[in-house]
Amino acid sequence: MPRVDPKPVDRVVRILVTQGGHERIVALGLEDYIVGSVLAETALGTISADAVSTVARFQAVLARTYAIANLGRHDGKHFDLCSETHCQLYRSPETFPPRLQRIARTASVETRGVILTYEGRPIQALYHSDCGGHTSDAGIVWGGPTPPYLLGVSDAAEGVHYGWEFDVPLDRLRHALNRNARTRVGARLNRIDVIQRDVAGRAMRVVIDGELVATVRGEELRAVLTASFGARTVRSTRFDVRRDGEQFKFSGSGFGHGVGVCQVGAISLAGRGEAFDKILQYYYSGVSLEHLTRVP
Ligand SMILES: [Zn+2]
Ligand SMILES: [Zn+2]
Repeated sequence: MPRVDPKPVDRVVRILVTQGGHERIVALGLEDYIVGSVLAETALGTISADAVSTVARFQAVLARTYAIANLGRHDGKHFDLCSETHCQLYRSPETFPPRLQRIARTASVETRGVILTYEGRPIQALYHSDCGGHTSDAGIVWGGPTPPYLLGVSDAAEGVHYGWEFDVPLDRLRHALNRNARTRVGARLNRIDVIQRDVAGRAMRVVIDGELVATVRGEELRAVLTASFGARTVRSTRFDVRRDGEQFKFSGSGFGHGVGVCQVGAISLAGRGEAFDKILQYYYSGVSLEHLTRVP
């Protein structure tokens, strides 16, 4: 009998999982991986009954697109994807309540083999928690070119974006800045000024003025500060910052990098009855939903 390649949707993916403190590589069917990723990446249990199946569907398409676009990312270590945020989260479905397992499994079946493409290729399906009201161009956040589907959009969802505040003593902030060569200020920190913003209100360029003076992208500054203080401190680059004596006060809105799908916005649109494909095409301009016929 001639050997036939398995259909891409039946492909086996090699995932590095951590169990009981031990890492091991497991081989999973693509759709089984999708189910565990949807459950790990989305708190389905917190989403209202009228929105949850739509949310699970768009999250399944996001997870599948990410997996296909990044297969072999860890080839050097003989697996495809890790199960942490470096790639995307995956947890064994059995660790979730049966009701949520059923929702994720149904979403995988109903969207079986569907991925997001731009000009026939799988897209980099980036998403984040909360855009604060407007998403941003990928190139503004990280530098480099912006794929046409990762341009910023004004979020149609209203009343779902959250503000935050983070106060930090000057000395702790100075120490954190000095841990990275790009943000080093030396023995003194005078002020931090946002000198350029994008249309979404994100800090594009920030001047850090001290014994040394540094100019960095907002996202670089956020990465340095969250490395020291945690992800729930400077939650986004949609912030203002001011000095108040020996304290620095950050206040902002949104959570995450702000590129691609805004999860709180997408969940809100699902609750308003929007279909999962329309929601994805809203945040990723110009993309198509296509059935996998081959692994790129
Ligand atoms: Zn990884
Ligand atoms: Zn949003």
